[in-house]
Amino acid sequence: MSTALPLLIDGEHLVSGSDEFHQTYDPCTGEARQRVPLSTAAEIECAVAGAAAAFRDWRETPLPQRARLMLKYQQLLKEHADELAALIATESGKTLADAHGDLWRGIEVVEQAAGIARMLQGDYSENVAHGVDTYSLKQPLGVCLGITPFNFPAMIPLWMFPLAIACGNTFILKPSEQVAQTALRLASLLLQAGAPAGVLQVVHGQAAQVEQLIDHAEVRAVSFVGSVAAAQAVYRRAGQALKRAQCLAGAKNHMVILPDANRDAALRALAGAACGAAGQRCMAISAVVFVGAARHWQEELVEHLRQLRPGPPAQTDAAFGPLISASARARVHALIEQGCQEGAVCRLDGRSLTPPAGHAGGYWLGPTLFSGVQPTMSIYREEIFGPVLCSLEVDDLDAAIALINANPYGNGTSLFTGSGASARHFSHHVEVGQIGINLAIPVPLPFFSFTGWRRSFYGDLHAYGQQAVQFYTETKTITTRWQEPTSPASSPSSTTLA
Ligand code: NAD
Repeated sequence: MSTALPLLIDGEHLVSGSDEFHQTYDPCTGEARQRVPLSTAAEIECAVAGAAAAFRDWRETPLPQRARLMLKYQQLLKEHADELAALIATESGKTLADAHGDLWRGIEVVEQAAGIARMLQGDYSENVAHGVDTYSLKQPLGVCLGITPFNFPAMIPLWMFPLAIACGNTFILKPSEQVAQTALRLASLLLQAGAPAGVLQVVHGQAAQVEQLIDHAEVRAVSFVGSVAAAQAVYRRAGQALKRAQCLAGAKNHMVILPDANRDAALRALAGAACGAAGQRCMAISAVVFVGAARHWQEELVEHLRQLRPGPPAQTDAAFGPLISASARARVHALIEQGCQEGAVCRLDGRSLTPPAGHAGGYWLGPTLFSGVQPTMSIYREEIFGPVLCSLEVDDLDAAIALINANPYGNGTSLFTGSGASARHFSHHVEVGQIGINLAIPVPLPFFSFTGWRRSFYGDLHAYGQQAVQFYTETKTITTRWQEPTSPASSPSSTTLA
């Protein structure tokens, strides 16, 4: 029988008493890997109680000490980078290069958390009235909750708990049941860096466990990343429980290509952004919009895509890995079938891929390209989350912008052009959170925030950066007037002098 993952509560790895499990499989081979326990109600209660108890001391821990924990943690993450990347690749099926990228983008947030003292600084105004000063400061909330998806096993947990903890909160992480081993290892390293027991707890589960956590009176804030349906459910539940929430959701990201773009650079970037990580990125490009004469470049795009071959992590020239699970692949296959039936032209059908040698049981899918896609088709309306690219054609840039703005998602978009004026027009009018100009996947570094719009995000304060510090703290504003004490000896003479 495959092994069962532990929970991490109050600094100890605990065997769950649950008799319900999620079974994980190696995405490259289809072989059973691990059983992830769905935590019992008592285990969840214990995790929250431990985090609430740890908060009492942690919030009083001096800022430089919290910053030093993050300095030590980023050092340990770097020292264990090869081990962690191998684990990420094994759990998710990503290539090793991609797994290193996943970890590195998370480490950058830990580096930012080491500068928490500056980010937490408050404001001070002198003389708001005669002899009266006002200052404001940020205080931690208490127990914060993070729920994370499968597609970035390291980066997305690291978007959340380092900043929350550096702000003085304690944190409960409920990682994706599909990649929970990486989350446990990240948490163990935080303990090794010196985090007190209870500051970071890891529990496992699905919707029922998340609901219990959101409803718990001690949980003060909810960070979520995942699909639209789950994001909406979590955001509603948090609202009902009167909790603040930031819920990052699905995407349908467009790349617009103008005829004045560098053709080779645009098509190469497009192929990589559509198929990298098997299209399982919230910033993957899943729709390309060719403007005017650029429509003639589609033949060349087919060739670029054809050259991308998936393979297991050990295969150094693999462009991407398999899909995460059998059900994910079945869903993508069904959408491809629907695209064919709705009249789109399947120029490249990844379903016919021969799996890499020795990996026939894995969840492989080759690059897939549809042309002649219409906005009404399911392959355009739904997030596919696979290496499937929809190609559309329009006559001018404004038509491309209108298409993007009519799409319900607003995570990322990109424009390839040689014209600064077109780029400026696009950036100004397009209603999307992250925009790349001659860059396909414009994920901001942590000194900015990750800012999805519309159906790609529910909430107002976004992930990491200064917005996350705002999210994980409460502002307190103090107004002061200080007077000399009234004393029988001094009071009359000072009155005389005045
Ligand atoms: P998912 O929604 O299936 O699961 C995400 C997390 O939510 C998991 O921990 C899961 O256990 C939990 N969950 C699932 N259903 C729930 C429910 N009803 N109530 C409460 N919790 C629930 O997502 P996934 O398949 O793991 O990840 C892929 C999705 O995440 C894609 O839609 C992708 O676009 C999105 N994503 C978005 C971003 C972003 O920044 N916007 C980043 C990464 C991934």
